[in-house]
Amino acid sequence: MDKGIVYLVGAGPGDPKLITVKGLECIQKSDTIIYDRLVSDRMLSFARPGAEIVYVGKSPERHTLTQSEINRLLVEKALKGKTVTRLKGGDPFVFGRGGEEAEALAAAGVLFEIVPGVTSAIAAAAYAGIPVTHRDFTSTFAVITGNEDPLKEDSSIDWAKISTGAGTLVFLMGMANLPHITKRLVENGRSPKTPAALVRWGTRPEQRTLVGTLEDISRKAESEGFKNPALIIIGEVVRLREKLSWFEKKPLFGKRILVTRSREQASVLSEALEALGAEPLEFPTISVVEPEDFGPLDLALDNLGSYQWVIFTSVNGVESFFKRLRYHRKDVRELYGAKLCAIGPKTREALENYGLIVDYVPVEFRAEEILKVLQGKVAAGDRVLMPRADIARKILPESLSRLGAQVDEVTAYRTVPGEGQGGRIAEMLKKGEIHGITFTSSSTVRNFVNMLGATDIKSLLGNVTVACIGPVTADTAREMGIEADLVAEEYTIEGLIKAILNYYKSI
Ligand code: SAH
Repeated sequence: MDKGIVYLVGAGPGDPKLITVKGLECIQKSDTIIYDRLVSDRMLSFARPGAEIVYVGKSPERHTLTQSEINRLLVEKALKGKTVTRLKGGDPFVFGRGGEEAEALAAAGVLFEIVPGVTSAIAAAAYAGIPVTHRDFTSTFAVITGNEDPLKEDSSIDWAKISTGAGTLVFLMGMANLPHITKRLVENGRSPKTPAALVRWGTRPEQRTLVGTLEDISRKAESEGFKNPALIIIGEVVRLREKLSWFEKKPLFGKRILVTRSREQASVLSEALEALGAEPLEFPTISVVEPEDFGPLDLALDNLGSYQWVIFTSVNGVESFFKRLRYHRKDVRELYGAKLCAIGPKTREALENYGLIVDYVPVEFRAEEILKVLQGKVAAGDRVLMPRADIARKILPESLSRLGAQVDEVTAYRTVPGEGQGGRIAEMLKKGEIHGITFTSSSTVRNFVNMLGATDIKSLLGNVTVACIGPVTADTAREMGIEADLVAEEYTIEGLIKAILNYYKSI
């Protein structure tokens, strides 16, 4: 049997993109992932299918493993030959007890590697616009534990030295002891006027920052009910926040938005939302799969030369069409002579990627509008091919037939419900952890409702902003009991983003 290995990996402070490339690779290749409370769920979605995922953090509902039980678990898995990622919030060696776990592995002769992470001590400060050092303010900073028992006689923290010994002081795990910490610092010579900041859930949509001074921050925290997990940052550098705050100023800051498209198509929307400061959460309600019967598509591919028009209505349609063409060892030359119509700029782009120039891209993307324009272009008797989804709407092909065209509507792909876990999303919705939801087609709405299995979808989405890509999707939503808060004017992803931005600007 192969020898196992344990990677002690820092997951970063919360923003899932703040993991290192090496850390991500460890997650992707591991058989077992053992993770803590402060590790973002999104990180776990990078695990390979079938990987064993074990939670060992504290939680009121579950039995908590002691540190020595965790150590034993790591050793045990590795001795069974497993590749294990031990995922810890921030950096594994900054108050993460990573050192103790590494010692246990070393003692048991288990192979291990340390993959450092971005520590919250620096990153949460940075996301609040506070650099821990700055030439105009200080050249030193210290990271200190804040959870030491304040009544302990002989403190392991030398308060006399630390209070004035470093310019910036960052306390972790210190919220419960905040009054004690600020008092000790002042007693030991730090000016009560020293700026202080608290950053809670740094780098995540829930980030909140509170600013004050050593003498009033404790009172402010109390009146605001400010709790862990938070950093306490003391020092002149806190003043820079006024100039450097950036994350909290992003237009979609604080919004966790559900992306319900298929996994393959989600990234464009997710990335755009992220760039605007939102945290996208992908919940694929759709999977694109092969048709049950390739017969009609194959027949059309055999007779491509006989068509005057080929109309593609989606990127999936383009991709499945060419995949099948390639399967038959044929290529674009088969399309010689046919005019090409692409519904929407993305569909056009997909065709252009195959070296094709599209003859016609309607400005409006609704079947009803497209028809108006095609009326002058498609002649009676023309043969029109439409490779599309099994459940596509019938309006366009039916109307083209009425113009006298001979329309072959063939199934190039099927959409089936995605593999996302509805239960987890329903739970997050109940807790108010999801602020917005995007629907990019009627099937995303239908599948979403089915996958959630919730009887009262209306109350579940009560405080959630519902965004639809167009009126057809919004109509389907209404039929399913979901009222859209906003509908894009231009029925594209860009249009949807624009509408979301405008919506949040206006409220
Ligand atoms: N190894 C971790 C720290 C673990 S101790 C690291 O390097 O970041 C846990 C403490 O870290 C929390 O009590 C809190 O003080 C701090 N912390 C972790 N994540 C945080 C976040 N996103 N925002 C603010 N503080 C955070």
